Amino acid sequence: MPGLRNTRKTREMAAPPQVRFQNTLVSMSSPSDSKGPNTRLVAAGRHPDRQHGFVNTPVYRGSTVLHANADDLLHHRIKFSYGRRNSPTIEALTDAITELEGAAGSVVVPSGLNAVTTALLSVLKSGDHLLMVDTVYQPSRHFCDTVLRRYGVEVNYYAPGIGAAISDLMRPNTRAVFTESPGSLTFDMQDIPAIANAAHAQGALVLTDNTWATPVYFKPLDFGADISLNAGTKYISGHSDILLGTIAANAAAWPALSDMHGALGLTVGPDDIYLALRGLRTMALRLERHYASGVAVARWLESRPEVARVLHPALESDPGHALWKRDFSGASGLFGVELKPVSQDRLIAFLDAISLFGMGYSWGGYESLVVVASTKDRVTPYAAEGPLLRLHIGLEDVEDLIANLESGFAALG
Ligand SMILES: *Cc1c(COP(=O)(O)O)cnc(C)c1O
Repeated sequence: MPGLRNTRKTREMAAPPQVRFQNTLVSMSSPSDSKGPNTRLVAAGRHPDRQHGFVNTPVYRGSTVLHANADDLLHHRIKFSYGRRNSPTIEALTDAITELEGAAGSVVVPSGLNAVTTALLSVLKSGDHLLMVDTVYQPSRHFCDTVLRRYGVEVNYYAPGIGAAISDLMRPNTRAVFTESPGSLTFDMQDIPAIANAAHAQGALVLTDNTWATPVYFKPLDFGADISLNAGTKYISGHSDILLGTIAANAAAWPALSDMHGALGLTVGPDDIYLALRGLRTMALRLERHYASGVAVARWLESRPEVARVLHPALESDPGHALWKRDFSGASGLFGVELKPVSQDRLIAFLDAISLFGMGYSWGGYESLVVVASTKDRVTPYAAEGPLLRLHIGLEDVEDLIANLESGFAALG
């Protein structure tokens, strides 16, 4: 594992690898630890040889798949048996996700929230106990507090910084520990390897919602998690035009995940999968810009007198910085900023003035966004004195974003 981390970091820093056009139509996905993230994203899951040389896997529409003859029908000799379960379009994305995550297998589902719920259903049964991080994405919490509790699963929330002390909260029936690092809205880092060691020692599985970092900047399975899931809606898509989730599992968690996915009848339409694949090819490149511009804006905000605190693990001032530096190779464009106390009117004037920041939920697209965050559902709500904002830094010119925020502060007064 340490070797893998070092390889990854070195690749991030190294000059782009030499890319040579290959005239031979061989399968483009041959997993190798020596490949850099951009090379992997370009090649993963692509098989031009299977589609007359065309670069991209086409959109296969279909429910029925015909067998060639009665013998094949009777002996179930067919690669794709039914459109709900798999197709060449679906497989192009799941192959790519499996390779990027270093997983035993992966599935795609209709939303990021569905990735959370399906992953949890695949590991839990009635009578089990779940340890859920208190900084989890709010709709994930809602699922635990309603559906899981109704189906007889006990749920307890733990503080994100718990680390190895998670073992103190484990019970004989603790079946899963759910992590999200950094957590939603307040961006608290978690020590995934320490949590995984403690959980595995007592027979529990570890799940990670890795939407913020994506497998480009953090690979949960390399750090001890059993299941890594993503809202593909965010950076995989990158264009705010689809909803999609991905779930990748190691060998221990894969059979139950694959069964649950099939049992629930989950499938994703081929157009959305095509768009996810299209986004995936440029994800590392886009993330480089989100990362650089995000840190630039976060540092600038830190220097402003109107700002109480910036919540961004890539900043040296952040309490999670050491963990981020140890485990992650980059940061996305999403972070928090706590303003000093202001009146509601002044806050509204600020938000209306920052016209380059759209006001809306979700993130991970090419555009900058802002929302006002609330942590009131938590066991331990974040103690903010002023308004807590969540910024998504998009692909605009960073000087324009800073100038726009500056005019916002002028309006704030
Ligand atoms: C957005 C988000 C989700 C849910 O994704 P949807 O595709 O919107 O359902 C899950 N987890 C995290 C951390 C998210 O930010």
